[in-house]
Amino acid sequence: MRQRLPVTLPPFPDELLSSWFTRHAAFYAVSPEDMLRHCSPEAPSLRALDLNLNRGQATQLSEMLSIDPNAVLRMTFSNIRKPIHRFIAKAPMQRCSNCYLEDSDPVPIRRGQLFGWRITCSLCGGMLRSIGQNDPDNSFTQYFDIALRGEKLLNDDAEHNICSWTSPLELARLLLMRRIPHPLPRGDDLWRFRVLGAVIPDLDNVMGQETSFTPCPKRPILSLRFRTALLAGVAFVERSGPEMLRMLQGHTFGHNRNNFKKESDRLIARTFEWDSPKQMQLI
Ligand SMILES: [Zn+2]
Repeated sequence: MRQRLPVTLPPFPDELLSSWFTRHAAFYAVSPEDMLRHCSPEAPSLRALDLNLNRGQATQLSEMLSIDPNAVLRMTFSNIRKPIHRFIAKAPMQRCSNCYLEDSDPVPIRRGQLFGWRITCSLCGGMLRSIGQNDPDNSFTQYFDIALRGEKLLNDDAEHNICSWTSPLELARLLLMRRIPHPLPRGDDLWRFRVLGAVIPDLDNVMGQETSFTPCPKRPILSLRFRTALLAGVAFVERSGPEMLRMLQGHTFGHNRNNFKKESDRLIARTFEWDSPKQMQLI
């Protein structure tokens, strides 16, 4: 019979379960892996607990750590659908200067630090900063207000499974697909052009300064700089409705067009199952 931990540290607001585990490991002077083996020996990794904790594991942990099982579940991403896990970073990529506890050792990690759809702190509403970067990026400040609406749309979709005529997270993935610009650029610069640029025209100029751009529909986590543009683009398309998706099909070509059309037609078809009067109220 494994022993219940004699001392339990209180979790910080929105703290991630693996972070809480790691702080207990430091307190008891053991490795996080040893702590995991003691408390939840069947779990393959701390990351697996963060992503896929089930009710049984939560109950087991709650007994070991003298805490309510629902509180354990709230420290994980178990409320988030599996396809959306691709929007959750593997390590913290952002922090809020108001809420970051840099004097703690180890520094607690909040759930929101891994979310690829946030530009503001879910606790205090402050602007997030990229880890290791102190100065804010002003590339897309003119879109900030609409980006905040996009952030709420994506957050409601991810955290609460609430959306209007389509999934904003699926819209975000579509907007990262390749686009064909007119006129065609010289050289091999086509990788810079995304469907998002047809919605946010300033994107092409900012992308022109980049030497690479790795986010794509399969790996949709953008730096905070480009995330503002993506969230604003999602909000524009969501507000405009399915007709805008049809219009965007005309900005794609060849294999990319087939993929974009297939995915966007799927989203448009779903709108027929949706009650349109509600859509009007949301707009
Ligand atoms: Zn904050």
